[in-house]
Amino acid sequence: GNFVIAIDGFSSCGKSTVAKALAKQLNFVFVDSGAMYRAVTLYFIRHQIDIQNPEAVDQAIENIHIDLVPLPEKTQVLLNGEDISDAIRTMEISEYVSEVSAIKAVRHAMVKQQQALGAKRNIVMDGRDIGTTVFPNAHLKIFMTASPQVRAERRYAELTAKGEVLTMEDVKENLAHRDHIDSTREESPLRQAEDAIVLDNSEMNQEEQLEFVVKLVQD
Ligand code: C5P
Repeated sequence: GNFVIAIDGFSSCGKSTVAKALAKQLNFVFVDSGAMYRAVTLYFIRHQIDIQNPEAVDQAIENIHIDLVPLPEKTQVLLNGEDISDAIRTMEISEYVSEVSAIKAVRHAMVKQQQALGAKRNIVMDGRDIGTTVFPNAHLKIFMTASPQVRAERRYAELTAKGEVLTMEDVKENLAHRDHIDSTREESPLRQAEDAIVLDNSEMNQEEQLEFVVKLVQD
């Protein structure tokens, strides 16, 4: 059968960096589940979907088609055929994505798609609920953490490098806001799976992290 590796944790712990490197090393497909929630959020913003209106939400979900296209240098995210890979990485999306991701109907639709993606291929999927809800039987589950300061610094560097104007305080507030909503929502909240292995990368470089996870796969 196929092999599933789940990597969960709070925002900006470096999950996707490790997941990508691991997928490359193992020749697995990398799936960024957060990108899917970001794509839904972009659609909701563009079409001004009222998240309090269940019919509007259901209709929107029906109209949303997301594709993840693995290219050699990155995974392209398509929303109804349009490349939105960069458009979903803004602070505006980050500020709203946790509210949208807390909607049950949104989660049900995304979890179904994620399970289909992992049904036939070897994958590394990163997110919040992959080891608990999407693939409770994943072969390997990793729960990543890092100190709040390290997380904020990484995020700040990423966003300012792309030309966003914001302060370290803005970034810290956004991370705390998302952590809170992600871990207290009713539907599949972020939590560590019982059988997950913790990787705290506050003091580790990327090579060390990759080495750590590759060892786990080999065991
Ligand atoms: O991973 P990333 O930070 O891009 O995810 C963006 C947001 O999407 C998270 O803050 C969370 O609200 C939501 N998310 C989720 N479940 C996942 C992945 C992401 O709720 N499996």
